[in-house]
Order: sequence, then C-alpha cells, then structure tokens
Amino acid sequence: MGERLPENYSLHHLNYRRRSFTTKLQKALRCQSGLIVPCHDVNHRLLHWRIRPLDAPSNWLCKTLTDIAVEQKNIERLQAAFNVTDELGTIAEELRSPERAQEALRYHSYLFEQLEIVTMPVAEARSFFSEVA
Ligand SMILES: [Zn+2]
Repeated sequence: MGERLPENYSLHHLNYRRRSFTTKLQKALRCQSGLIVPCHDVNHRLLHWRIRPLDAPSNWLCKTLTDIAVEQKNIERLQAAFNVTDELGTIAEELRSPERAQEALRYHSYLFEQLEIVTMPVAEARSFFSEVA
C-alpha cells in the first residue's frame, strides 16, 4: 500500500481474521481499501480485545459489500468505511429474505462497533486498559 501512517498508527482490516477469509470472493472483499482503516495502536488493541470476529460473510453479502466498497475507491479510508457501513444498513432494511436481512444487520453492527472503537479518542481507549490494571 505504501502509504505513510502517523506514528503509533497501524491499519486494521474491518474484515478479520485473515484466516476466515478463504474463498476468492472473501479475499476480494478483505482487500478493499475502504475496509482497511488507520487505527491508533491503543484503539487497535482495544478493538481486538473487545470485538469478537464474525465468520466471513456468505457469498451474496461478500459481493454486496465488495460492490459498495469499490464505489468508495477514491474516498479517504475512514470515510469510505462509514459510507459502506451506512449503505449496508440501508440495504439490510430493503432485503426481502429474513435470513439475508439478519446477516446484513449483524454485519452492519459488527462494522459499526469496530468503527466506534477506531474513532474513539485515544485517551478514552487507554482508560479501558488502566481500569483493568
Ligand atoms: Zn486489526
């Protein structure tokens, strides 16, 4: 990717863990730039501590998410990730199949919860660790 991140930042794949994404469709989704966001190391640690990874989405959801993400190609990563999440929420409401709607809503919450931690002030993220200590 070759982009410079601020000090103490790393990139987080909103679609994790890597080992769950095995098919071509799943891999295509995982590498979309709008679904890989810069995250402060403290927030990043908090995210992986708090959020349990979901299984990779089923084929139709992979395709849907990839299509949305491709549209966000030239948009800044974090904004793109919020756009994809919003759009998924809208799509979920319009789905006729209850199973698909449920999967889409579940993934929508999953993305949104991650973005909440990614965008949390670093001091707030840090406070979760000092409470534990
Ligand atoms: Zn990560």
